[in-house]
Amino acid sequence: DARIARISSSIRVIPNFPKPGVMFQDITTMLLDPKAFKDTIDLFVERYKDKDISVVAGVEARGFIFGPPIALAIGAKFVPMRKPGKLPGEVISEEYSLEYGTDKMEMHVGAVEAGERAIVIDDLIATGGTLSAAIKLLERVGLHVVESACVIELPELKGRDRLGDKPLFVLIKAA
Ligand code: 5GP
Repeated sequence: DARIARISSSIRVIPNFPKPGVMFQDITTMLLDPKAFKDTIDLFVERYKDKDISVVAGVEARGFIFGPPIALAIGAKFVPMRKPGKLPGEVISEEYSLEYGTDKMEMHVGAVEAGERAIVIDDLIATGGTLSAAIKLLERVGLHVVESACVIELPELKGRDRLGDKPLFVLIKAA
């Protein structure tokens, strides 16, 4: 797909951000190229339309960029999965481990109903900790998580293994 090549070249890699040794995949340069951004959204929409998906869950922060246009295009609701203390209503939360310490993800109670079919969107999967926490949270409230979707996968970090038998769809695998 020629679209993948354009998307891939629109992503900038910044060495040593946010700390030495990390090659940060910066998707903000893709957002400056409306064709690459639209192709990205279209590829996800083509995959998830007509799959009876009623929930697009986006992980803070960059899942908030890609999730809403996909949700609108497939006629699903968008549900933000946020860092702790950001959502004003009653929340349920899921703790997950980071390289150093733990973090938490929260979702509004009542945003979804048991039995709904969901996809989870983020920009990138590294170790898979973030996505697996999002999946757990959605499953705890009775959703069927059809698939997780990211623009970029860093296969060396084996995040896919951490998701176990949960399907993962990515557009680009980065070194
Ligand atoms: P994981 O939980 O899979 O180890 O890390 C994935 C999370 O960290 C995602 O929410 C993603 O946005 C962020 N992240 C980690 N590394 C990068 C990177 O190189 N580029 C971008 N854009 N996000 C990253």
